[in-house]
Amino acid sequence: MKRDSRFDILFEPLKIGPVTSKNRFYQVPHCTGMGWQRPNMLAEMRSIKAEGGWGVVNTEYCSIHPSSDDVPYPYASLWDQSDVRAHHMMTKKLHKHNAVAGVQLWYGGANASSQYTREIPMDVNSRPNADGLPYQSRKMDKQDFRNLRQWYKDAALRAKEAEFDIVYAYATHHYLLHNFQLSDINDRNDEYGGSVKNRSRLLREIIEVLKDAVGDKMAVAVRFSPDDNKLINNKPVTDEGKEFFELVAELPDLWDVTSSNWDIELGTSRFVSEGANEPYMSYVKKMTSKPVVSVGRFTSPDSMVSQINRGIVDMIGAARPSIADPFLPKKIEEGRHEDIRECIGCNICYAGDQLGVPIRCTQNPTIGEEWRRGWHPENVPEKNSESSILIVGAGPAGLEAAHALGKRGYKVILSEARKELGGRVILESRLPSLSEWVRVKDYREQQFLKLPNVEVYLNSNLNVEDVFLTKADHIVIATGAKWRADGFGRNNPIGIDNLEASNQVFTPDDIMMGHCPKGEVVIFDDDYYYMAPVIAEMLQKQGCQVTFVTTSDMICSFGNYISEQFSAQKALINAGVKMIFSQNIHAYDGNNIDLKCMYTERSSKLKTKAIVMVTARLPNDKLYYKLQNLIEVGKDKFTSIKSIRRIGDCEAPAPIASAVYAGRKYALELDDTSGINYSMCRDINFGS
Ligand code: ADP
Ligand code: SF4
Repeated sequence: MKRDSRFDILFEPLKIGPVTSKNRFYQVPHCTGMGWQRPNMLAEMRSIKAEGGWGVVNTEYCSIHPSSDDVPYPYASLWDQSDVRAHHMMTKKLHKHNAVAGVQLWYGGANASSQYTREIPMDVNSRPNADGLPYQSRKMDKQDFRNLRQWYKDAALRAKEAEFDIVYAYATHHYLLHNFQLSDINDRNDEYGGSVKNRSRLLREIIEVLKDAVGDKMAVAVRFSPDDNKLINNKPVTDEGKEFFELVAELPDLWDVTSSNWDIELGTSRFVSEGANEPYMSYVKKMTSKPVVSVGRFTSPDSMVSQINRGIVDMIGAARPSIADPFLPKKIEEGRHEDIRECIGCNICYAGDQLGVPIRCTQNPTIGEEWRRGWHPENVPEKNSESSILIVGAGPAGLEAAHALGKRGYKVILSEARKELGGRVILESRLPSLSEWVRVKDYREQQFLKLPNVEVYLNSNLNVEDVFLTKADHIVIATGAKWRADGFGRNNPIGIDNLEASNQVFTPDDIMMGHCPKGEVVIFDDDYYYMAPVIAEMLQKQGCQVTFVTTSDMICSFGNYISEQFSAQKALINAGVKMIFSQNIHAYDGNNIDLKCMYTERSSKLKTKAIVMVTARLPNDKLYYKLQNLIEVGKDKFTSIKSIRRIGDCEAPAPIASAVYAGRKYALELDDTSGINYSMCRDINFGS
C-alpha cells in the first residue's frame, strides 16, 4: 500500500546543523533500564527502531563524568574507551539503517548522588538530593566551572569517536544546567547567578564548548524547558522563560523542548492526554530559526502532521510511541495505519528504569528482548510443525498468544467465554481514565482479521469435555484471575477471618460488572497500584462517601515507578475522598470495621456499610488443574495431547504487560529447537 499524500511532510528530510535526518521521526532520548550496564541489549533495541524507520535515534541520558552517577538507575556513560566501544556498536547499527545517532550528554548535579562512584556531585549550590537520599552536592567554585567545560569537551570528543551525529546539552528536568537557569534555585551572587543573562551563562558556555569541540561534524542539540518549574499549578509559559530563551535561541542546531515536570511530559494516560506538551513549547518555534522537536505521545499520523503544519514543531519527538511500535514510521510510510501498535500510556516502560531492570512494554512484548532472546516486533519464526493449538481465554495473554502463533502459521482456536474479546482490558478500559487500555485488544483483534488460520469463538465457556472435543495438539489455558473478596493479600497472608457481613464486601470485579455499593463505602487497598484509586474516585464522583483505607503510607505507591503516584494522590484529595494510611483491616461486622495500626497494632473502629477489597487476585486455574490431572491419570487415553500450559494471570497475576509477554513467549517457544527463548543471552560488560 502507498502512503497517503497528506503525510508526505513527515517524510521530508531536514537539516540539523551539519547533519540531515531522512525524515521527521525523532526518537528523543529515553531511558531503557540498560545504559552502560547492558550495551548489547541497548544497541540491538535502538537498532530495531532505526530499522523501523526513525530518522533520528538517541541514547538515554549519558553521563559525562563519574561525579554524575545515577546508580541504581541505569544511565549511559561516556567516561572512557570502553564506553566509546559500546556506543560505537550501536551507532554502526543505526547508520546501517540511515538513521542519525544522537547522544544526550548529562550532568546530574544534586539529583545524582553518585552512590556507585562515591564522587561528590556539584551543583549551583549545596543542595539535598531530590530522591530523598541524605547527601548534598558541592557548590561549584571557579575550578569546578573549568572542569565541567573540560568534561563536556572530553565527552563530546568521545561521542565523535563513537560516531554519533548529534550531541546534546541536557538542560532540563532539574539537572545541573537546569538548576542554573531557575531564579528560585540559583541563589549565586557571582557571574553565574542573579540576572537572566548571568543564569544563562553556563548553558551558553557549554553550547560553545560543544560547538568548538565537535560542531564541524556533529549537530548540537539542547533539551530545554521554558516553564516555571513547579509541580503544582505549573505555568507553561513565563516571561522569564521567554527572556531566557531569547538569549540562547540561535546558539544550538536543534531545540528539544518539553515541560520540566515529568508528570506532564511523561504522565500516564490516566492523567495526561496526547499533545500535553504543546502549551509548554508552542511559542518556541516563533523565536528561533533552528529546528524544534517535542514529544506528546503521538500515535496518530494526523496529529503529527497537524503539529508540523501548525508550526509547533519541525520533527515529531517520541519516546513511548517508539517503544510501543518501533516500526511506526514504516507503517505510516506504507499506509498500514491499522497495524500501528498504539501506546496506551501505562508507563510500565518507565518502571524498568526506575526499578533498574531492562525496559518492558504492555503493547510491545519484544522490547528489551531483541538481543537476549532474538525477538523482533514484526517478524516471528515460521511454524515448526503442523500442530494445532487451543487457547482458552481471550484476555491479553490469550490474544497475544493467538496473534503470534497465528502469524507463525499454526492453526489456532481461540475460545472466549464472554461475548467480546479482551478479558480484563475490556472491563478495565470502561473504568474512568483507563479508556486507552482497550488498544491492547484493538491492535490484536485487528491483526486476527488478516489471519485465516486463527478461529475465534465467542460465548464459548469451555469445560474439560469441550477442550478434549477440539482435538487440539497443544492446550493453553489463559483464563485470567479474579479479585479476592476474603482480604487475602500482602498484609493478610491467609485472608481476614472475621468478615461477617460478606454480602457487603465487594471486589473490583463486582464494580466493573456494574454491581456497586451506595452511600458510605471503604476502599481497602493492599494492592498499591491503580485499581483502588480509580474505583475510589469513581464511586466518590457517583455520590458515595468514600474512605480510602490502606496498609501503605501513601496512595498508589507503585505509581512512584511510573510517574503516577503524585497525580493519583492529588486526584483523590481533589475528589474529596477521605484517606486513612497505615491501617489494616482486622474484622468487619456490616456496620464497623476494626482497624489495626500497621506500626503499633493499636485498634480503632470505622463505620461503613460496605467495603471494596482491593488486595490480590486469585488465578482462575481450576480448568488447568482438572485437565492436567486427567491427562496424568489417563495417559493412554489422551496421547494426542502434546502439552498443556497455563499463561498470564491464570499462572501468576501481574500487570497487563506480563500477560502480553507471557502470550508472546509461549508462541515463540512452541516447537523451538534453538533454545534461545528458554536460556536468554546474558549481557555482560567486560569493561576496558
Ligand atoms: P490475562 O490477563 O491472563 O489474559 P484475563 O482475565 O484478561 O487474563 O482474561 C481471561 C479471559 O479468559 C477472560 O476474558 C475470561 O472470560 C476468559 N475465560 C475464563 N475461563 C474461560 C473458559 N473456561 N473458557 C473460555 N474463556 C474463559
Ligand atoms: Fe506505552 Fe505502556 Fe508501552 Fe510505555 S509500556 S510504551 S506507556 S504502552
